[in-house]
Amino acid sequence: MTATLMKNVMIWDGESDAPFAGEVLIEGNRIKSVAHGTNQIARDRASEVIDGGGKTLMPGLVEGHCHLSFVGPARNQDLGEIPPEEHLLRTCRNATLILNHGFTSCYSAASAKLRLDVVVRQEIEEGYLAGPRYRAAGPEITVTGGLGDERKQHMHAESFGMIADGPDEIRKAVRLCIREGVDNIKINISGDEFVSHARAEVCSMSEIEVATAVEVAHEWGKRVASHARAAESVKRALRNNVDCIYHCDFADDETLDMLEAAKQRIIVGPAFGLVHNAVFESERAGVSKQVVERMGLPRKLEATCRTYEQIRKRGIKVVIGGDYGFTLTPMGQNARDIGHFVKFFGYSPVEALRCATQVGGELMGHKGELGVVKEGALADLLLVDGNPLADLSILVGPSRFAMIMKDGRLHRDPRHTVVAHPQVAAE
Ligand SMILES: [Zn+2]
Repeated sequence: MTATLMKNVMIWDGESDAPFAGEVLIEGNRIKSVAHGTNQIARDRASEVIDGGGKTLMPGLVEGHCHLSFVGPARNQDLGEIPPEEHLLRTCRNATLILNHGFTSCYSAASAKLRLDVVVRQEIEEGYLAGPRYRAAGPEITVTGGLGDERKQHMHAESFGMIADGPDEIRKAVRLCIREGVDNIKINISGDEFVSHARAEVCSMSEIEVATAVEVAHEWGKRVASHARAAESVKRALRNNVDCIYHCDFADDETLDMLEAAKQRIIVGPAFGLVHNAVFESERAGVSKQVVERMGLPRKLEATCRTYEQIRKRGIKVVIGGDYGFTLTPMGQNARDIGHFVKFFGYSPVEALRCATQVGGELMGHKGELGVVKEGALADLLLVDGNPLADLSILVGPSRFAMIMKDGRLHRDPRHTVVAHPQVAAE
C-alpha cells in the first residue's frame, strides 16, 4: 500500500478556524495521521514524501447541488434535444472538468436523462474516467405542468423532467429510477419564477405524491432531494421526511421553525449561483434586465438572501452548489458559491468553507470522514497556493490547485504541477 507523507504544509482541516502548520500521512485511501506544529511523522512510515512548499492542504470541495449532465443549455428543452450519445460524452467532460476545479465529490440534484448520471458514476468508480465521487440521481420527477414539463398540447418536448401524476405514477417513476441504478431521487414540489404556469410559490406536487415518492425511495434505501421554493412546499417536504431540501427561498417564519426543529436530520441548499447570475449576469445568456425584472428574479434573490440569513443564524446545515451547467452558469464556476455565502448570507469565510467541505461530506453519506482532514478520514485533499480563508476566490478556477487527490490517488501531482498566476478574477 502506498503511504504518502505531505510535509511542509499549512493544514486547514475543515474544523479549525484557521490553518496550522503540520504534516499529513496518507495510507491507501485514508488519512493515517496528522501532526501539528513542529511534530514530525516518522519518515520510515512513508513510501513517498511530498514537500508542499508551505501551501495549504485542505479537504476536497463538495458540490451539493450538481448537474453533470447540464451541458450548457439556454432553455430547459435544449437538454431534451441533445442526442444521448453527444450528451453522454459532454457529461463525461463535465466530470473531469469539475474534478480539475477541486471538487472531489458531487451530489447530483438531477440527471437530464435517466441513465446519464448512473453510467458516468460507474465509469468513474471503475477508474476509466477522471471525475469526482458521485452520488447519481435520476431526472427531476415532476407533475404535469410542473417545473421540468416543457411539453405543449400540440407538441412533445423533453427536458430534465420525468412526468408522473398521482401516487401510482410517482411510485412507478421512483422505482424506475432505482431499477436503473440511481443513488438519489429528485422531486419537484414547487414551481419556479421562470416557469410561467408554475411560479416559485406554486405547490405543484400534492402531499400524497410527495409522501409516496419518499416512502418508496426510503423503502429501497435511497435518499430524496426536493426542489421546493414555496413555503408550503418546504413544509410538505419536511412533513414527509425528504432528506435534502433545495432552495427554500420563500420560507416563512413557521417554515423556518420547522426547518430548525429538523436540523439534525435535514440538509438544505440554496443553489444560489443560478439565482445570482440570472440577476447580475443575465447578459451572458442574452437576457435583458427588463426580462429579468418581469420574471421576478430580483424578488427571488431577495427572498433567498433573507431566508439564508435566517437559516445561518438558526444553525441549519447548508451545502453549496448553485445549479452550474446552464449557459448562465458555466460548469467550473461552482466555487463562486462559497464567496456568495459570505457576501449575501453573512457567513464568515470559514463557515462558508465548511458548507463546501464538511457539510457536503455528510450529504454524500460520509459524515465525519469526508470534507475533513483528520485521522481515519477519506483522503480527498487539495493543495492550494495561498490561504483560501483569506481569499476564497482562489478556489475558483483550477490554476491555484497544485495537487488534487481523490480517494488517496493523485489526480494532479504537485511534483509535476506548475502553478499559474494570476488567478482569473472572481468574487
Ligand atoms: Zn438544480
